This record gives sequence, structure tokens and C-alpha cells, in this order.
Amino acid sequence: MAQEDVFKKLVAHCKEYGYVFPSSEIYDGLSAVYDYGQYGVELKNNIKKYWWDSMVLLNDNIVGLDSAIFMHPTIWKASGHVDAFNDPLIDNKDSKKRYRADILIEEHIAKIEEKVTKEVEKARERFGQAFDEKKFRETNPRVIANQTKIDELNERYSKALNAMDLPALRQIIMDCEIVCPISGSRNWTEVRQFNLMFSTELGSTADGSTTIFLRPETAQGIFVNFLNVQKTGRMKIPFGIAQIGKAFRNEIVARQFIFRMREFEQMEMQFFVQPGTELEWFKYWKEIRMKWYQALGFGAENYRFHDHTKLAHYANAATDIEYRFPFGFKEVEGIHSRTDYDLRQHQQYSGKKMQYFDPEKGESYIPYVIETSIGVDRMFLHIISAAYLEEELKKEDGSTDTRVVLRLPAYLAPVKLAVMPLVKKDGLPEIAEKIVHELKFEFNCQYDDKDSIGRRYRRQDAIGTPYCITIDHQTREDQTVTIRYRDSMEQERIKISRLKDIIFEKVSIVSLLKKL
Ligand code: ATP
Repeated sequence: MAQEDVFKKLVAHCKEYGYVFPSSEIYDGLSAVYDYGQYGVELKNNIKKYWWDSMVLLNDNIVGLDSAIFMHPTIWKASGHVDAFNDPLIDNKDSKKRYRADILIEEHIAKIEEKVTKEVEKARERFGQAFDEKKFRETNPRVIANQTKIDELNERYSKALNAMDLPALRQIIMDCEIVCPISGSRNWTEVRQFNLMFSTELGSTADGSTTIFLRPETAQGIFVNFLNVQKTGRMKIPFGIAQIGKAFRNEIVARQFIFRMREFEQMEMQFFVQPGTELEWFKYWKEIRMKWYQALGFGAENYRFHDHTKLAHYANAATDIEYRFPFGFKEVEGIHSRTDYDLRQHQQYSGKKMQYFDPEKGESYIPYVIETSIGVDRMFLHIISAAYLEEELKKEDGSTDTRVVLRLPAYLAPVKLAVMPLVKKDGLPEIAEKIVHELKFEFNCQYDDKDSIGRRYRRQDAIGTPYCITIDHQTREDQTVTIRYRDSMEQERIKISRLKDIIFEKVSIVSLLKKL
């Protein structure tokens, strides 16, 4: 099945099984805004806990913060968002569709890169063991021609984007003959700047109100509280402040479900270090963060770093961690070495010192900052697309059947176990209810007695419940139940008294955190 079809099915699955709903659906929805349903909210909370514990619990020099969404408007002036948090937009005059000029160009470059990759893969198949990829890339005329095109375009594009030279961006679109995917035409408008921040009014009277912004990132709340936390927590550099919270961006083109939203959630950690040590810490956090993803067990080959060649003016190193989504490798997290830019700007705009007195060096300085910034919703999409599987099953009579299963890591799954009486009589429901009552203090349990046992298993597979417990007549005799494992579909008979220990070991976040 084409990856696009898999993605469509995944989106439908999320809605059908209570994971994600379009916002305001009865009013036909609100573009790029989504609500999380009964299972979605559990998965989201588990993702947040995994991140929070890996930061705040495992590191005694990282503490948390929960700063307000509304902040003094000058903060966004100081941070550069008022003047520079812009995307270049372009409209197609025929389809009336709006695009981000930078994304049109990046997608065009990615298409040429794809051609090169295909050429290399074809050659790898042809030459087998003897294939020398480096030599092939250096000598194959088609690969060389395409690679030259990519390099030239990248250089032109970086220059135009860094200088926000809008006519130059448009010229690249024209020269590359990029067409609108809807109308197929090259009838483009000029490129214009578009600020991504939402604004609103604070205060009730017309002349007494102030225009404020909905924060486009959580990071600034950390910067402006840097000294509060440092002083009250008696933190010594190096130390970090972690925060999870909502952010808002009026994205020009919102696509790909919850990948790009207008209201979303971020998990950001700003790590304050001594000037001059930042690149070592940057390297350190790159490794730590990659490990965090790989501990989930979805395969190391599905992640990669994308180091930035064009750096923001305040950064001296930056990389993205990308995951292989059904629509290709895309950013899930950004790791940036932001120098002392933000604290220095706030010092200048607020007139308050943003310095740290280093007792070991006996001097004061503005710390440098390494930032790790991940979107909760994007991580959610990563997890759910990695977990979604349409599996073909061979039945005993030789025929085939299919099941949809969410192979969520057990510690992230919304429901840990479903408890099912085989029939709704003979005292079996009472035993099942008793088990739920005992285990519900530890795990999210579900009691289910509707439909045949096979259909109940399928329903739990589709939700991603790792364990199903079935109570049958034998349970009454010997206090044993059947435990059925979601991924292997194997079943085992175990004593009720062992249930808690068996499940705890598998679903506890501790075993995941210990891998880090
Ligand atoms: P992109 O290039 O995809 O727009 P970005 O580089 O602007 O992302 P950052 O400002 O570095 O993103 O934000 C950090 C993280 O926040 C991203 O890696 C992503 O996971 C998340 N994020 C950013 N914008 C959105 C959005 N509109 N919807 C959902 N998540 C987002």
C-alpha cells in the first residue's frame, strides 16, 4: 500500500478509536487545530511523562517550570519575534492556494535528492557486494549533474533566505519551474512576509488595553525566569530548566494532520553553560536526545540528524532530529546552541542584569544556552505512525484475515490491560470486576464484556492495549486466567496472584528510563 494511503488510514483510525478529533467538528472544524480524545490524552500524557522524567527526575541539575502563556509584549520585541518571526508566503493566482515559498523550494530540492538516492539504490542492487557508493557518486554522470544542481540551489536558497531576499526566493521558484500542485500553473504572486504570532488584547477598555501575543514558543518563559530559578533553587552552572506548555503559530500552510498545527504543545529544556563550553554541551545533548528516541525500540535506522548549514544569526550550532514519517524524514526536535543571545537581549530591553556569579571562577557572566525543543504533537504522530500496522494473519483453515494493531510501547499505551469475562454469567463478570478493582490503582484497566472474545481482542489491538486477561470457568477452579499478548497474540495461563508483578515489570516507565 502506498505510504500516503497508510497515512490516510492512520488519520481515520485516530478518529475512529478516540485518539484525535478535528477541533469544533460539528461546525465543520477549524483548520490545523485538533482535540485529543479519551485515548489520545492518555498517550499524550505518557509521552510528556517520559520526557519530563528523563529531564527532571534523572538529572539533579535540571528543574521544571510552568510559566504563563501571556507575557509582557516587550519580551517578543527582545527575542526578535516581532521583527523576524516571519515566513515568506506566495499565492498561486489560479488555484488561490497559499504556500510557503521556502517549503516549495525545499520540496523541489528534496525531489532531486530522491532521484539521486534512487539512482544509488538501483546501482547497489545491480552491483551487489562489490558496490562502492562513494565512487559511484563521484563518477556517475547523472548523479553528478543532479548533485551539482542540488548544491547550487542550496547555496542560492540559503543566501536568499538568510537575507530574507523575497524577490530572490521568487526567482528560484520561477527558475526551477515549480508549479502549484493544485492548478499545475506557474502563475505566482510576489513573495511576502507573514508574521506567525497571534495577537490579542489585554485589558477591558479600548484605550486602556495592550496588544499582547500568544507565545509562539515556551522558551522565552524560561529565559525571563532564569534568575528566579537560579537564585531560589541555588542552581550552579551548568544547569537546565525544563518546561512543557502550549505554543501558538499562525502557520501559513498547515498540513499533515497534527504535524503542523496552529495550537500545539512543546517540551523545551534550556541548559545554561559557561561561555566557551557550549559546543561540548551541544554534542552531549545531541547524543542524549537521540538515545531518548532510540530507547523506544522503533529502530535506529528511522532517525537521523539534520545538521543546519544555514544558522540563525544568534546560533553557533544547530541540528534537527528527524524521524522517518510515512511522508518522509521530517523534524521532530530541534537542538540549538543559542549563545547568550536571548539573555543578553532581555538584559538590554529590561535593563535588569541577567548575569550569573560563578563562585568557582569568581566572576559574573551571561551564560550560554543549549536548547532542546520537541513538539508533543509531532512526537505523538511519530509514535502512532510507528505503531500502526495492518497485519495479515493466517487462520488455522489456511484462509487469511487482517487485523489493525497499534504496537505502542507498553509504557506509553493508554490502556495497559483489558479484563474480560468469557461469558456474562456463572460469576465470571464478578471475578473480572474484582481484578479490575484491585489493579486500577496501578494501571489504566478496562473491563470489557461485550461481543465475542475475538472481537474484543481486535478492539483492544486497535487501541494498542498490550495485555488482555480472560476469565473463564477454569478461573473459578484454580484461580488462573489467560493472558494474551497483543504483538505475538500468544496466550498463557497464569495465576491471578502473579498478574500485578508480570504487568508491572512490562508497563513501568522505570524500565524505559533505565535504558537512558
Ligand atoms: P518547522 O521547521 O517544522 O516549522 P521549526 O524549526 O520552526 O519547525 P522550532 O521552532 O525549532 O520548529 O520548534 C521546535 C519543535 O516544536 C519542532 O521540532 C516541532 O516538533 C514543534 N513544532 C514547531 N512548530 C509546530 C507546529 N506548527 N505544529 C506542531 N509542532 C510544531
